[in-house]
Amino acid sequence: MDASRTAIRLGSEVHIVYRRSEEELPARVEEVHHAKEEGVIFDLLTNPIEIVEDENNWVKGMKCVRMELGEPDASGRRRPVEVEGSEFEMELDTVIMSLGTSPNPLISSTTEGLETNKWKCIVADEEFGKTSKEGVFAGGDAVTGAATVILAMGAGKAAAKGIHKYLSEK
Ligand SMILES: Cc1cc2nc3c(=O)[nH]c(=O)nc-3n(C[C@H](O)[C@H](O)[C@H](O)COP(=O)(O)OP(=O)(O)OC[C@H]3O[C@@H](n4cnc5c(N)ncnc54)[C@H](O)[C@@H]3O)c2cc1C
Repeated sequence: MDASRTAIRLGSEVHIVYRRSEEELPARVEEVHHAKEEGVIFDLLTNPIEIVEDENNWVKGMKCVRMELGEPDASGRRRPVEVEGSEFEMELDTVIMSLGTSPNPLISSTTEGLETNKWKCIVADEEFGKTSKEGVFAGGDAVTGAATVILAMGAGKAAAKGIHKYLSEK
C-alpha cells in the first residue's frame, strides 16, 4: 500500500494486482481506503503469471489471468482458482513485487552455526542480540519477522551493547 501510494504521488498510474478479492486483502482497511482515495486502481481476482520484457530486457508488460474464489484453504481464506482461458497482458513499465516479508533464507543456508527458527528468522537474545554464532549479533526484522522501525532501533541498541560487552571481555 505504501509503495503504491508513493508511486502515485510521483505521477504514475498505479495498479495493485491481487489474486483474491477485497475481502481477503491483507492490508489494513484504512490503507486500502486511502489508496483508493488517492487513485490507486485495484485489479482484484487477477493473478500475475509472467513479466514480459522488450528487446532490451526492459519490463514492458505483465501476463495475468483472472481468478475466482473456491473453497477456503488452510488459512481460512477462500482459495483463488484460475479462470480457464482468461489470460491477458497488462502494459506497464515497472513492477513492484510485494509478496511477503520473511527473511532472505540465504543467511541461514550459508552461515554454519547460526541458529534460525522455522520462519528462517535468526535466533537472538533480546537483551544483547547475541546469536548462536560467536561474535555475531542480530536484531530487527531478521530476528522478529516483519515488525516496526522502533523495535528494530531498540534491537540495534541492544546489539550495540552486546557487541561492546563482547569486545570488552575479549
Ligand atoms: C511497505 C512497508 C511499510 C512499512 N511501514 C512501517 C511504518 O509505517 N512504521 C514502522 O514502524 N514500520 C514500518 N515497516 C516496517 C519497518 O520498515 C521494518 O520493521 C524495519 O525497517 C526493520 O528494520 P531492520 O533494520 O531490521 O531491517 P531493514 O530496514 O529491512 O534493513 C535491512 C538492510 O539489510 C540490507 N541487506 C539485506 N541483505 C544484505 C546482505 N546480504 N548484505 C548487506 N546488506 C543486506 C537490506 O538492503 C536493508 O537495507 C514497514 C515495512 C514495509 C515493508
